[in-house]
Amino acid sequence: MAKGKYFDGLTSSEHEATINPSLQRLGIIISDPYGRPKFLDWDLEDIEIEYNEFAKRVKLENKTEPRKRIELELSEFLSIQDQLPKNLRLGIRSNGLRKIWLFGAISLFIIGFLIFSYFVMLPYFAEKVAINFPQSYERKLGLSVFESMESDLDIDSTKSHDLQLFFNGLGYDESKNVQVFYSKTNDINAFAIPGGFIVVNEGLINSMNNYKELQGVLAHEFIHIKHRHSLRILFRSLSSYLAISLVFGDINGILAILIQNSNELRSLSYSRTMETEADINGAELMVEKGFDPHGMIELMETLKSHTPNIENEVFKYLATHPDLDLRINNLEKVYSNQAKTLNADSLISKSIFLNLKNDR
Ligand SMILES: [Zn+2]
Repeated sequence: MAKGKYFDGLTSSEHEATINPSLQRLGIIISDPYGRPKFLDWDLEDIEIEYNEFAKRVKLENKTEPRKRIELELSEFLSIQDQLPKNLRLGIRSNGLRKIWLFGAISLFIIGFLIFSYFVMLPYFAEKVAINFPQSYERKLGLSVFESMESDLDIDSTKSHDLQLFFNGLGYDESKNVQVFYSKTNDINAFAIPGGFIVVNEGLINSMNNYKELQGVLAHEFIHIKHRHSLRILFRSLSSYLAISLVFGDINGILAILIQNSNELRSLSYSRTMETEADINGAELMVEKGFDPHGMIELMETLKSHTPNIENEVFKYLATHPDLDLRINNLEKVYSNQAKTLNADSLISKSIFLNLKNDR
């Protein structure tokens, strides 16, 4: 049903009209001069349509004499045009439909934007925050993670002291205050905890053939710490929990959530890119400090020989991943590009290593 004006074609007077299309017919109700309703009934075949785009008005004219017509606002006409035959329709969507389309499109856009924000922007943003996370907070987090693991780690304080001397001798540590621990655990493993903690297991040291492999492990783990790899994956994995704190830059809130969920770190593994970064940058660092970087390759060969029964956190990827050979090749390329003369074997490193390995 639509409202319009009716003109009888004989006089200039206009009448309020209600138009109601039905099958083959157009029913029209107008008011006569005395306000009484009058019913008209047009055959649709007698009607021609004319649209005035400027005035946004539609004229339906009945060709039978005397030529009479109805004029409607466009919006009124669009509300009934679907009930009319094709030749009496305009190629314009009704406002209502247009609104539904617009609403649908906007909703889709918002849903898409939310999905994009949640899965792409939030983790990206979280990682950016992780990179700029204050070092003192990273240290607090790391300390809490380390303390929660300490009873399982069975730390040997004497050997940790020796291991620390070994690490300090490498000259990697500039401002990170890295603490190195010797764990009397048999798993062939070493790992880094945010804030500058490196744990090397007895199982890994005992499987090594020489001190260069230990230098390689420490270089690799040091790069994980330097580039905040574990902090970054922790932030990424918790980004949805962290969302509000991230938005408001509430660092204490972030720290609290991270500490509550720090056991997540045990199940997270580094990305392939991070492991490659730790290998390559670690090897470059060794060369830069004048050490033979082949220790890292030797270490991988050692790990490869242990692959069938290896089950550890940090080196799980490294040791079980089929592209270990590829990574060794990458490292070979780095070394062959380094023309720098290497230091003579460090006797101190060698003796500390032997001490760590044999004195059980
Ligand atoms: Zn690693």
